[in-house]
Amino acid sequence: MFNYYMPVKIFAGENVVTGKSSELILGTKAMIVTGKHSGVRSGALDDVTAALNSNNISYIIYDKIENNPSIENTAEGAKTANEFGADFIIAIGGGSPLDAAKAIAVYAVNPPAEGSDFELYDIFKGKFKNTPLPMVAIPTTAGTGSEVTPYSILTLHREHTKRSFSSPDVFFKTAFLDGRYIEDLPLQTARNTAIDTLSHLIEGFTNKKSSPASDYIALEGLRVLGNNIGILKDGTAPAELCTDFLWASTLGGMVIAQTGTTIVHSMGYPLTYYKGVPHGMANGLLLGEYMRRADMEMPWKTDLYLEALGMDSIDDICTLLNELLPCDINFTEEELTDWTKTTILAKNAQSCPFDVTREIEINIYKKCLL
Ligand code: NAP
Ligand code: FE
Repeated sequence: MFNYYMPVKIFAGENVVTGKSSELILGTKAMIVTGKHSGVRSGALDDVTAALNSNNISYIIYDKIENNPSIENTAEGAKTANEFGADFIIAIGGGSPLDAAKAIAVYAVNPPAEGSDFELYDIFKGKFKNTPLPMVAIPTTAGTGSEVTPYSILTLHREHTKRSFSSPDVFFKTAFLDGRYIEDLPLQTARNTAIDTLSHLIEGFTNKKSSPASDYIALEGLRVLGNNIGILKDGTAPAELCTDFLWASTLGGMVIAQTGTTIVHSMGYPLTYYKGVPHGMANGLLLGEYMRRADMEMPWKTDLYLEALGMDSIDDICTLLNELLPCDINFTEEELTDWTKTTILAKNAQSCPFDVTREIEINIYKKCLL
């Protein structure tokens, strides 16, 4: 028995924001949530503001979203949304603005102000008194699939880590996928984000929570990604392939929306928090050893994902990962051991196809990073 739930309406194709502008409008006053550069550089912000102007919708642009947004960053955004009286949100950017928008949508109607019954950290319970503001997603990276997941990953400075919250209430209502928006991604960002997609697809496919539905989508995502990912060894993807990268990313999101991730993600968070390793790169550094351990439990699944990717062995994937992810950051054994005090508590350890203990996590870190 299994179920499948993914309620996001998807519009995909060139100029889809302009072509389907009425689908962008979920209220009367919009807050556009984006990063410092992504909205402008991708061209998506221009398309969105043109669509809102032509439909006489007033809006405010909140472009202060940090990479790996903190809860404080999103609470500030929610204050701005309320001061403006926004009744819907349009998120433009990579996973950071998309995830931040989900938290802003929650905080805007469940203010974490003093005396309120909703404190900043309550968001991680995933249950909200008031239904979050409705949201639209326009991804400008091809990696996280956040446009179709019920997750938001936030940085918690108080706890020196990142943590996710999850709720069916923070699925976007609508997602617009236009490959043009990722054409000008810097090369290393394109690589890191493509590896995030690879990681979602493999972690989802080998996950204890996988189902026939999620496996079907994962294999299609791996096929689309496998056809294209090699191009990133030589340079950024040509325009005609950007649509495929974006679609593979969304398929990866659809998979983890059902299965969640594994320790690759939870063990990657300290690499990002303490060493500034970008999210996708952090996953890629740990994925090799994860795949080897998963292979011991479910070799038939390894055969299936290798075939979908068009690769012969896990070693081939590791070679590609090494080529795409140059990383000259130093890690000490003490640091790695210390991080596992927190990472071992992550819920997704239970979704791995192999037993996870603190010793095993230490061993994976050492094999991958020392
Ligand atoms: P990101 O942090 O959103 O963006 C990385 C960098 O790329 C930023 O500097 C960003 O600029 C820039 N950028 C984005 N689009 C661009 C474009 N089209 N052209 C030029 N530059 C562009 O990176 P991400 O990998 O997409 O997202 C990572 C976050 O998503 C992490 O916090 C991770 O934990 C989370 N995540 C969420 C899920 C989920 O299911 N919700 C899944 C996986 C990961 P700006 O500074 O302007 O933003
Ligand atoms: Fe991810």
